[in-house]
Amino acid sequence: MSTKKLGFGTMRLPLTDKENPASIDIEQFKKMADLFMERGFTYFDTAYPYHQEHSEEAVKEAVVKRFPRDSFILADKMPILRVTKSEDYQVFFDDQLKRCGVEYFDYYLLHNLGRDRYINTEKFGGFGFIEKLKKAGYVRKIGFSFHDDAETLDRILTDHPEVDFVQLQINYLDWNSIAIQSGPCYEIAKKHGKKVMVMEPIKGGALVKLPEAALKKFDDFYKPMNDPMLTPASLAIRYAASLENVQIVLSGMSDLEQLNNNTCYMQNFKPLSEEEYKLVDEITEILNSTGTIQCTSCRYCTEVCPKNINIPEYFGLFNMHVVTGNKSNMYYERFSMNHGKASDCIKCGLCEKNCPQHINIRDRLVDFAALYEQQ
Ligand code: SF4
Ligand code: SF4
Repeated sequence: MSTKKLGFGTMRLPLTDKENPASIDIEQFKKMADLFMERGFTYFDTAYPYHQEHSEEAVKEAVVKRFPRDSFILADKMPILRVTKSEDYQVFFDDQLKRCGVEYFDYYLLHNLGRDRYINTEKFGGFGFIEKLKKAGYVRKIGFSFHDDAETLDRILTDHPEVDFVQLQINYLDWNSIAIQSGPCYEIAKKHGKKVMVMEPIKGGALVKLPEAALKKFDDFYKPMNDPMLTPASLAIRYAASLENVQIVLSGMSDLEQLNNNTCYMQNFKPLSEEEYKLVDEITEILNSTGTIQCTSCRYCTEVCPKNINIPEYFGLFNMHVVTGNKSNMYYERFSMNHGKASDCIKCGLCEKNCPQHINIRDRLVDFAALYEQQ
């Protein structure tokens, strides 16, 4: 089977109703899956909570029912956040096989491990459970996705040499970030001899919508090459794919254009040149100086917020103001229509415990409220 490095992340699928993450546009997804497969790519990645628990069923409709099982690779993830006792693992796993309409997964992960979640996962025997699945043939390779520091990753991989791979957040902006530690985490995975699957290579879109100064650098570099496929997204995805130990770079593609673009330059993948690495350094410097909130819109925070605050949308508005100087009260009204306002935050901190980007959400909501609610 193909060893191409681009994987199809199914957490940002096209929607029929932009306000409703559950309204996946299956017909559009089918067209995207067709083109993806046609161009020789085979890796699909889903998870229990994506699209308000509708991603796995969408994969069944657009991929599983339409292609021979051995022609594509399917990765799914155990929602460890929802596991409160050992017996839950089997219940979730059976449900996932049914939702996806498959008899086995090629890659199976414990979803979103970090220091605290590792303690619970150990308590309920999560690693033992996935190892048992592998021995019984229900999954081919086992691993975990991870959002924490390199020291914790080292500890987990030392305790569990049986895992085959890890899924890490890797992108050029986070490579040296103290909070995310993409670089040190990658080195730890390499030290333990584990293949790496990459998530968030464009940091939830932050490396696509570059601020003006960074975009100018980008254009000055690529314009003479006159290749429309060389976009800011391509630079970010190729950056992650250029790492030797990286097996797959996941991209959460939302329309045919993105898919067409990504598959074009990843079909005959070329690692970054030395000049491109220099360009990445210059863009990173600009991005780090802007003061934007580095939210990836994963929505793990909103799942637990008792005031139903639309955190990622508000942070998006905040960033728009930082980058462009523009404020949109109309958008704030729309985003807050069926949600709590930023000033409704009761500072319980539940969101921050769930945030893989380690954002000080409570403080940043105060900043946001000062900007948007105090006229
Ligand atoms: S601290 Fe505020 S934003 Fe975070 S979960 Fe609590 S109420 Fe929601
Ligand atoms: S604030 Fe954190 S948890 Fe919430 S959407 Fe952004 S990155 Fe995800």
